Amino acid sequence: QTADSLFIINAFAQKFYAQKLLETEEGQTNGLSYLKERGFNKDIIQKFGLGYAPDGRDALTKEAIAAQYNSELLQKTGLVVERNGQLQDNYRDRIIFPIHNNSGKVIGFGARLIKKNDKAPKYINTPENELYVKSKLLYGTYFARQAIDKADECFLVEGYTDVLSLHQAGIENVVASGGTSLTQDQLRLIKKYTSNLTIIYDGDAAGVKAALRGLDMALEESLNVKLVLIPDGEDPDSYVRKVGEKRFREFVQENKKDFILFQLDVLLKDAGNDGAKKADVVNQVAETLSKIDKTEDFTKQQDYIRQCADTLKIDEAGFTALVNKFIR
Ligand code: ATP
Ligand code: MN
Ligand code: MN
Ligand code: MN
Repeated sequence: QTADSLFIINAFAQKFYAQKLLETEEGQTNGLSYLKERGFNKDIIQKFGLGYAPDGRDALTKEAIAAQYNSELLQKTGLVVERNGQLQDNYRDRIIFPIHNNSGKVIGFGARLIKKNDKAPKYINTPENELYVKSKLLYGTYFARQAIDKADECFLVEGYTDVLSLHQAGIENVVASGGTSLTQDQLRLIKKYTSNLTIIYDGDAAGVKAALRGLDMALEESLNVKLVLIPDGEDPDSYVRKVGEKRFREFVQENKKDFILFQLDVLLKDAGNDGAKKADVVNQVAETLSKIDKTEDFTKQQDYIRQCADTLKIDEAGFTALVNKFIR
């Protein structure tokens, strides 16, 4: 009952914001030009139903009240908030990203600042309600389902704009976690579509941390999980824009790492030019590799030894001997 009403209000708001973006001067000047400058085309803007929240105090609230939507339900959607006893718009002068469920209905919104502002958060999202349960949803599933099926692989990125840019480049088997660390429920959702998950996170410290956390859980869901780190300072959105679809796909293929190789990368980066630290990394990796059951997985262990020696830029035979020293 409540859920049905929330769906109706969200649908109303999505239309409201999209109309503002595409058909008002304020929306075109402040919103559409920003999106165009970032390189998003009209097809992608319309496909994902993007919108613009006007700068006024209560542009949406006024229309919603006039349309007789219940004020408590309006607040539940997070679109309307009460301040000083007055109902007002929560999102102002922001780009609106509707979030769809698997049948394409809007369950919530992400709202992005347009002008840089140190006092306000870059993104505001719908508060938890009957429809919007952040830990159970992934942005973009509705638009990715078929492509995930076809590729039998799902790309997982951090943000809304990563999903949009990849789609625009023709890469559609992609969903976003919304920045926060992955949950078991989200991974189960992916598992329903495919067993092959490729996490493509931002090339910053936060991205590395989030990827490592997601990794453990993904292994638990028995997903076949690989990791790709986008070069430092870039994210999938900026990177695909820079290098294009073909090179992006190649980059993902060439840089897909599984658990062991990814951790090696992280350890090496931490060690930097410190010789002692690097020696520790060599030992640590050798010990890890020694734990791969040799009788059952001999070629796998050899593959790892070769790849790790390569990454560490050390002699393979010497490294093999070191690994064997750890085997009792
Ligand atoms: P943009 O390219 O527009 O700056 P982004 O997706 O690259 O967006 P990131 O800072 O990389 O932004 O964050 C990744 C994702 O994390 C965002 O898309 C958003 O879903 C979420 N996020 C980021 N900052 C916040 C915030 N302050 N509050 C809530 N969610 C956030
Ligand atoms: Mn980031
Ligand atoms: Mn970005
Ligand atoms: Mn990002």
